[in-house]
Amino acid sequence: MKDLNIYSKFFKKLIIFLLISLSLINVSTYCCLLSPINIEGNSKNNDFEKDNTNEEKKIAYLTFDDGPSKNTELILDILKENNVHATFFIISPYIEPHIQFVKRAYEEGNAIGNHTADHEFKYVYTCEESFFKSFNKQQKFIKEVTGSDCTIFRFPGGSNNTIVKNSRGKDFTKNITFKLNEVGVNVYDWNVDSGDAKGNNIPASTLIQNISREIKDKDGNYKNPAIILMHDCMTKNTTVEALPGIIKLLKDAGYDFGILK
Ligand SMILES: [Zn+2]
Repeated sequence: MKDLNIYSKFFKKLIIFLLISLSLINVSTYCCLLSPINIEGNSKNNDFEKDNTNEEKKIAYLTFDDGPSKNTELILDILKENNVHATFFIISPYIEPHIQFVKRAYEEGNAIGNHTADHEFKYVYTCEESFFKSFNKQQKFIKEVTGSDCTIFRFPGGSNNTIVKNSRGKDFTKNITFKLNEVGVNVYDWNVDSGDAKGNNIPASTLIQNISREIKDKDGNYKNPAIILMHDCMTKNTTVEALPGIIKLLKDAGYDFGILK
């Protein structure tokens, strides 16, 4: 009887041990298999969905040149209210409160681009050396304000402007673009012009109409991407006035909003 009891106790212990071991193996198997597969599976699903939608999604890039100014702050408020972002190609001079707008723009998820420090055609486009002096001064300033290296640039007047082509030859901006690309800086022009550079106080309704016309290509299709040229210097009050209407127009046309990188 005593032996039988010992065997019985031994088997009970063995069964309990086996049950515990099995349940531990199950839990560890479940954790190892389920968690990573789940995470990976989800991220793949998301990517797949994203890829699918990206094919159809139209992206609009709101860009503002020649700031910062008092208007930059008003523009930032409108962007925030509408939950969209923009790209600011900035120049000097730097007035202390305006520097804070650059910092705020960056911190709120907008992109800051280099537009040369000087923006003076006579100086910036004299030769490559003076161009890079002005470009590098602005790179340094942007790094100081945002803490990040600036990787986007827009030529004052655009890369295709006739004044520079006529005075410096057609390859002047092309050669500089090549050098900028080599150091990881992307150069952007635009394909939708708000027309706000043609004068001051152009009615907001005219600026909206200009964009509504330019947003479509010659076949009547919406441009994708649409890179929209506007200005946030202190004289462009009607650009600020037009901005909510411009954002609405783009949203109604089915655009998402991106920042240049
Ligand atoms: Zn400019």
